[in-house]
Amino acid sequence: MAKLLLVAEASEGKIKKSLYEIMSKLLSLQFVAKKASFESDLVIVGEVSAEEMERIKRFNLSTIFQAKNLQSVRPLAVDGNYKYVMAPVSTSNKDFFPVLAVSVNNATMVSDVVDFDGANVSKPLFAGKAISKIPLSKRGTYFITVRPNSFGVLDVEQFWKENGGATAVNTKVEAVTQVASSDANARVQVKEVVKAMKSRADLSEANIIVSGGRAMKCKENFQLLEELANVLGATVGASRAAVDAGYALPAMQVGQTGKTVSPSLYVACGISGAIQHLAGMRTSKIIFAINSDPNAPIFSKADYGIVGDLYKVIPMLIEELKA
Ligand SMILES: Cc1cc2nc3c(=O)[nH]c(=O)nc-3n(C[C@H](O)[C@H](O)[C@H](O)COP(=O)(O)OP(=O)(O)OC[C@H]3O[C@@H](n4cnc5c(N)ncnc54)[C@H](O)[C@@H]3O)c2cc1C
Repeated sequence: MAKLLLVAEASEGKIKKSLYEIMSKLLSLQFVAKKASFESDLVIVGEVSAEEMERIKRFNLSTIFQAKNLQSVRPLAVDGNYKYVMAPVSTSNKDFFPVLAVSVNNATMVSDVVDFDGANVSKPLFAGKAISKIPLSKRGTYFITVRPNSFGVLDVEQFWKENGGATAVNTKVEAVTQVASSDANARVQVKEVVKAMKSRADLSEANIIVSGGRAMKCKENFQLLEELANVLGATVGASRAAVDAGYALPAMQVGQTGKTVSPSLYVACGISGAIQHLAGMRTSKIIFAINSDPNAPIFSKADYGIVGDLYKVIPMLIEELKA
């Protein structure tokens, strides 16, 4: 049975949805596809509420460790004899995982994967133009980061009803162990977390994204996208042209040099569809583009499109959606 360690960063008493996506995938692989069998541990960096802990325990974990900071995870990941160490892609994991991988003999780092079948991972290459399937057949530990929204989240209670009952889950949870903190050695310490958009999902994890490009013309016009996002329950993103022009915050940038997103629905408003933008959003499940130029490259990637002036189309959309 392959030993697997999941690394979760907690915030406001919860772990990220993307962690539940990975845990759901692991459950499906083991109990539905029966393709693999894992002894899965989880290390939580930060505090989670008691309610959240109970929910996490339903995902068939052996041991849950608690750590104060990412540095504390190092000894566990390095010495724990794990075949796989996995986490969702995040700003901190982009740095932390490769650094961890080089400190382990025979380790392999695979970043930003979009699929895992127990024996292989798949990851986009060449700005998303190709998908590479990588066999996990080498000896040593694989350090793997997973793109958010690559897998669905299971209704875990329903899952256990259909796949063997609740007792099988409970017996596998052993303990919650405190990993020794190494605060003194930590070079980076989080002092404060300031949320840019309080009521919205984080861009990388959002299920629906409404993005604006250069055609937004000014910061104030992004309010139109905010209104559309409100009715759709979406998060607002932007192209680099919009960010460089100061219409949107850098944290909102989608693309090669911005965030990689994979929502169920991506609405591109006044975005031409340059390769560097597509690199960050082409794995979206449905792409819907609004552009006044019928020859804009975004239309060759879009599932649905409207050729028209976004300042006319979006208000009509908002009205329709509200109705
Ligand atoms: C190394 C490198 C990295 C890069 N990284 C990124 C990145 O991470 N993300 C990114 O986005 N870009 C990135 N870029 C920039 C990228 O090449 C494009 O320049 C950028 O994506 C263009 O943004 P845009 O589509 O908003 O603007 P434009 O290309 O100017 O497109 C604007 C679009 O709006 C349409 N339009 C105009 N008016 C209206 C209207 N009233 N209604 C509807 N449609 C309208 C036009 O037809 C046009 O298609 C990078 C470039 C380089 C070289």
